[in-house]
Amino acid sequence: MIFIIDFDGTLSPEDTVDKLLEHHADPLWQELESDWLGGRISALECMREQVALVRADRIALGKFFQDIRLDPHFSAFWQYVREFAGLAVVSDGLDYGIKAALRGAGLSGFPVFANQLDFVAPDRLSLSFPYQNADCRSGNGVCKCAIARQMAVQHGGPIVLIGDGKSDACLAGIADIVFAKSSLIKHCEDQGISHIAFEDFSDVLSIVKTWPLDLPRAAIA
Ligand SMILES: [Mg+2]
Ligand SMILES: [Zn+2]
Repeated sequence: MIFIIDFDGTLSPEDTVDKLLEHHADPLWQELESDWLGGRISALECMREQVALVRADRIALGKFFQDIRLDPHFSAFWQYVREFAGLAVVSDGLDYGIKAALRGAGLSGFPVFANQLDFVAPDRLSLSFPYQNADCRSGNGVCKCAIARQMAVQHGGPIVLIGDGKSDACLAGIADIVFAKSSLIKHCEDQGISHIAFEDFSDVLSIVKTWPLDLPRAAIA
């Protein structure tokens, strides 16, 4: 079994990319946001150009992300599932920030896949997309389905997605079990994808605890 965990809106209740832009970017980032919403630029262009508008050095950025409040129930969830399952945080956000937030919360022992944030000057950032997949319909920077399939080869299935939004849509279509909150619930309803609604990781943990381990997924979905 492999758990694929979304970051912004899921493991972190707030969207850390939006919060970073609000606090540390030139206000021009909002124009890019409306260009993207209006279909004038792609999601990737939008994200890349917004990140280029951030003015923060390593120390400010590290501090910003280490102070992000994560779901307080995630740690208990991870301690429980690590005994029988793999877990990866797979996000269409910023790898540097996610890793700093996890360090800040004392969480470790699982891989993180996200878009790659690099410093190109002491206070200038650039974003690249090492997990992009041209064949993915999502248009995300990170193709979550490709990573989930890879992780399932390593850890065995079933694939369990825990997510909240647009970046989870591609994986929701192929995951064996979907835990959904926020707009991912609507997506699943529209697409006829069976899912379990949740609010936080205490909900997820109490359901996972009822699963008879090693039973085929049909028995639990
Ligand atoms: Mg999300
Ligand atoms: Zn995909």
